[in-house]
Amino acid sequence: MQQNARIAVIKGDGIGVDVADATLAVVSAVLDRVGLPGLNIDEIAAGAGYFRDTGRDIEPGGEERAAESDAIFMGAIGLPSVRHADGTEISPHLRLRDRFELYAGVRPVRAYPNAPQRLADPRAAGIDLVILRESTEGLFYSAAVHGRSQIIGDSEVRDTLRITRSICERLHRFGFRLAEKRKARGGKGLLTCVDKANVFASMAFFRKIFDEVRPEFPDIATGYNYVDAQALDLVRQPWAFDVLVTENMFGDILSDLAGGLVGGMGMASCAEIGDHHALFQPAHGSAPDIMGQDKANPLAAILSGALMLDYLADRTEFAAYADAAKLIDEAVMAGFSANRLRPMEFGGDMGTRAVTREVIDLIGESA
Ligand code: ATP
Ligand code: MG
Repeated sequence: MQQNARIAVIKGDGIGVDVADATLAVVSAVLDRVGLPGLNIDEIAAGAGYFRDTGRDIEPGGEERAAESDAIFMGAIGLPSVRHADGTEISPHLRLRDRFELYAGVRPVRAYPNAPQRLADPRAAGIDLVILRESTEGLFYSAAVHGRSQIIGDSEVRDTLRITRSICERLHRFGFRLAEKRKARGGKGLLTCVDKANVFASMAFFRKIFDEVRPEFPDIATGYNYVDAQALDLVRQPWAFDVLVTENMFGDILSDLAGGLVGGMGMASCAEIGDHHALFQPAHGSAPDIMGQDKANPLAAILSGALMLDYLADRTEFAAYADAAKLIDEAVMAGFSANRLRPMEFGGDMGTRAVTREVIDLIGESA
């Protein structure tokens, strides 16, 4: 008897709702295509709109249900017009990231034919890398929990860059395993440690732990880059990289830079993975400027749905989901190659629903 995974779905605000619906439709179609039962969806109300209506950012019991699920899928959260009394944004997802120790932020960056391409060099068509961003400590350590920044009157403010052995060992192992997995599918088998080990003791420690973990993975080639040089290299020769593992703030900046080289926000998928929980969402926000107009590109969310199926497939009871994840990735690639995916975000004629239908058609046609 095949099991079906239990997914907590937080559609959230603005276009989050549309792109989450698009993803659920695609996932349901692909599971049907490979002959697997659909996901068991537990929808949880949360977000800025929910906060405006109820004074809570997530429904009572919602976090506990998310904790019990096999994975969490999120559309997008936040509306500029709705804030806490102190001016900060409504962000239950940041609390979930902290509570569930989702330390491995996975940000794939891939070039698609007929999608915007900023680099003229023909090798840019081969851009296919992943930025692995540590997501619970680093320079965001102070920012993650309100009150951690050290404010000394009106004369000085200190934020802390924290690197711990415990998180770093797991992060680097995650990076090596990801490089192995990609190598098995034709990837370069290369993991690059991106830091600033020449200047910061914390970053030297980050690299030291990378070197300690390295011998466990003899089949993976390794490289080192200081973050400033990496920024230059991401513009000069992004096709030379495979998996980049880095500190929280560096990963935040580099993933926007790399995302800008190919496509745009509507293509940026994201996974946030811990040892016991994982959250999948597009990297973009709720985009209130285009909400409710069927204009949002749902592909970032749909590709995040593929990341979710692939994550579930790493557990034996859900191993068959790997085929479904692959089918989604191939459908998106084939759709761009044949110029059948023309999102409005890239000046095309296809809104959210049309892109979603086309992906479902492409999945149906796959051999
Ligand atoms: P957040 O603070 O939540 O990251 P943000 O202010 O960075 O939000 P986003 O919502 O990520 O803003 O998007 C910025 C702009 O990019 C949007 O206003 C929208 O015009 C465009 N955009 C974002 N996502 C998409 C998408 N999926 N399809 C089309 N355009 C998008
Ligand atoms: Mg943003």
